[in-house]
Amino acid sequence: MSHHKKCVVIKIGSHHTIAGFNNTELPQCILPSSYLKKGSDEYIFGTISMLEEAIAKKDKDTNENLEVFTTVDENGIPYNWSVIEQQLKYIYDTQLKCDPQDLPLVITVPHLKSELANKVLERYFDLAFTKLNVPVLQIIIEPLAIALAMGKTSALVIDLGSSGCNVTPIVDGTVVKTSVMRSRFAGDFLDYRITQRVEDIVKKKKNSSSSSEVIDAEGDINISTEDNNSSNYKDSVDVWLEANTWIHDFKMNMLQVSDKELPELERFYKEQAEMQIRQQEQLQQYSTNNAEAKLDSAAIASIQNNNPLLQKKNFLYKLSNQTISLESRQCYELAESLFNPSMISDKYTKEDGLGEIIGKAIKKAGASVSSVGTNTIGALGASMTIQPMNTQSKNNIFGNNNDNSNNNNNNNVGINSLGTTATTPEYIYSMLLTNIIVTGSTSLINGMEQRIIKELSTRFPQYKITTFASQITMDRKIQGWTSSVSMSNLPSWELAKWYTKADYEKELNGEAANEK
Ligand code: ATP
Repeated sequence: MSHHKKCVVIKIGSHHTIAGFNNTELPQCILPSSYLKKGSDEYIFGTISMLEEAIAKKDKDTNENLEVFTTVDENGIPYNWSVIEQQLKYIYDTQLKCDPQDLPLVITVPHLKSELANKVLERYFDLAFTKLNVPVLQIIIEPLAIALAMGKTSALVIDLGSSGCNVTPIVDGTVVKTSVMRSRFAGDFLDYRITQRVEDIVKKKKNSSSSSEVIDAEGDINISTEDNNSSNYKDSVDVWLEANTWIHDFKMNMLQVSDKELPELERFYKEQAEMQIRQQEQLQQYSTNNAEAKLDSAAIASIQNNNPLLQKKNFLYKLSNQTISLESRQCYELAESLFNPSMISDKYTKEDGLGEIIGKAIKKAGASVSSVGTNTIGALGASMTIQPMNTQSKNNIFGNNNDNSNNNNNNNVGINSLGTTATTPEYIYSMLLTNIIVTGSTSLINGMEQRIIKELSTRFPQYKITTFASQITMDRKIQGWTSSVSMSNLPSWELAKWYTKADYEKELNGEAANEK
């Protein structure tokens, strides 16, 4: 097969589904992974159509039976297969404008736990070969593709998405399965926190005054006008619409992550202010020749008010026609919950925070790989080795592998060679820490990369830390897709594992025969 063969590349995330061709730099479409169900049998896909329906429903305030459903669960795993099939057909028809039978398909999946991986892969094979009739299929593990597309065979891929943050250590082209960590505190969680915070402010304002310009007890609100938001009840359409309109703007313009833990930052600025007050007093004492001279309260207040954490940021909350004014500290606080969820509720612990799980992933990778690489090899089988189609392999096509002997095939892409090399945890730490790839749209929050570096430098003080994150917003948003495009464009088809319908049918027949 020619390696210049055009194919379709699709990435199904929990927030977005991205689709396009491997011979273009940008995807053909970026659509919501969720869909609108109208009545009992009408499905609406695509951002514009969904927005139009949702806004029309809101404007008319009708009782029309309209609901938003997801196709991917809170762990990032697709579950609504019949709708995913319809969604892919919609993408082929309206966006790619080609027939699934005409082009090979590349699907990008997150790293899945082994017990789930086989089931999910079976569903993808069934979807591709039975429902869509694609001629050839390749399944690519997203973090692996991201690392390899950046020319790295060892890396720590930190993907901050909507349903969760996935931390995937990759060593010698292999996902270290036992060390993959996931935090559920990510974009969706921030949506919830932001809604709560903003609604609290609006409610407080509403209760505190009916006058047109009021500052509430916390100094939250500057300007108020008419409040149109009369009802508190929100259905799935409202939640989806808000997440894709004002909450998205709020995240882009208001959220920021501090480069150190928030209490530490507060202490730092407090100490700075105290130091400045002392300096001013010393100056005054020197100039007045009075050793007792003190700054007056106005001067002290002015220094204290210079605290950067008190600086205001404004956001136009169109839903109730208000400008909401938050202090920098409050903006930091919202994003800080990703690193320290225990500040939100006793139900969560700091161990669920991003810094902790990144640290754990690295330590576990060090321990797994250095124990003579056995875990890593096991992980390789379960996480789908990429092998030449014409190689006699004991893997079945769903990634089951009971025999590790074929894992060191040199033709393979992303195949580990650790089995024979003794490595120390320190070597793995250093390799991962100098190759940290930060990706996913939630990582676009201001200051995220610096904070990740800070979290790691406190946990691994003696190591050099290097992060790689695309500085172009769109590139970071579609990095999973573009990396899969790069993988599908590898110089030879032989380098990657492509399955034909015949492979799939042979596998199915083989399994059926074994059962008999
Ligand atoms: P997952 O990785 O969970 O499967 P995904 O890959 O579909 O999700 P991403 O596009 O990586 O999703 O992330 C989507 C999340 O990022 C949403 O919660 C969205 O609100 C948020 N987001 C998008 N742009 C920004 C931005 N500029 N700043 C902060 N957050 C953003």
